[in-house]
Amino acid sequence: MEALLGNERLKTGLTAAFASGKLSHCYLLAGPPGSGKHTLARILTAAMECTQGARRPCGTCLQCRKVLDGVHPDVITVDDPAKKTVTVEMIRKARADVYIKPNEGLRKVYIIPRAMDMNAAAQNALLKVIEEPPDYAAFLLLSDAAERLLPTIRSRSVPLQLSPLPEELGMAELARRFPGKDRSALADAWGRSEGFLGQALKLLTEGESLAEETRRFADCFARRDKLGLTELLVPLERRKREELIPLLTQWVEILSQALAVRAGQPGRWEAARQLGRSRTSAESLRALRSLRRAIELLQGNVSPGAVCGVLQVWLDVTD
Ligand SMILES: [Zn+2]
Repeated sequence: MEALLGNERLKTGLTAAFASGKLSHCYLLAGPPGSGKHTLARILTAAMECTQGARRPCGTCLQCRKVLDGVHPDVITVDDPAKKTVTVEMIRKARADVYIKPNEGLRKVYIIPRAMDMNAAAQNALLKVIEEPPDYAAFLLLSDAAERLLPTIRSRSVPLQLSPLPEELGMAELARRFPGKDRSALADAWGRSEGFLGQALKLLTEGESLAEETRRFADCFARRDKLGLTELLVPLERRKREELIPLLTQWVEILSQALAVRAGQPGRWEAARQLGRSRTSAESLRALRSLRRAIELLQGNVSPGAVCGVLQVWLDVTD
């Protein structure tokens, strides 16, 4: 159960349900991407199959290990990544299978990772089986858009809503997983994750976090550091057009966020929040327009050297 961070109320409730043996046949695991639905599904499945009485899932018995390794024969994933939706055929196949008793497990657990992508026919087919399932059957519906499920399905499921993590907990976990990374990069990723660890990890691993140059740009702009900006722009003159465009686009993005912060919205990046605090909307807007013009020039085949040169004039950070 510890594998799922935060979500204390949810975990307490589930632990109590396991202790009393009061399990539902159908759970709806709801939360945005990266909120822990898959982790929770694994824990829940292991707890359903665990043969240790005391504290399920124990994580060490054979049944737990098979679930956690993804090789348990009675845990069935209902999906086909090649298909755009979860079709009625997939549900019918599961429905036919559900009446065959478990191979070795206590239960047969059907996991539907994209429950929100079931079309109406698939949902109706599922409804028939969750209305009167065999005792040993359990269905785990994972969804980041629970409202797309029929009310009749929702009313027959026990909702398990994943919540954002407190910043302290999320940051500690990021620092643990990325010991070499500097704290501001972690804080940026965390700031953009809306409190969901999976999103922060995705940002950090996919390199979508703020580029170092973007952070420096924001810093120079916030502090009206003209020399710092020149030192940043000069080496960029040698960059390739296809590298420079995404970078400047990120600068535009951080300025738009700074504007949003001034308009009272929460900024995703700490650097944007700082920018929003230190410069007026008019100043940020002016810089943003200059950057958009620079991007247009690059797209129009003006050389990176010329564009970086003109940006030093246009982005007069001291005014
Ligand atoms: Zn176990």
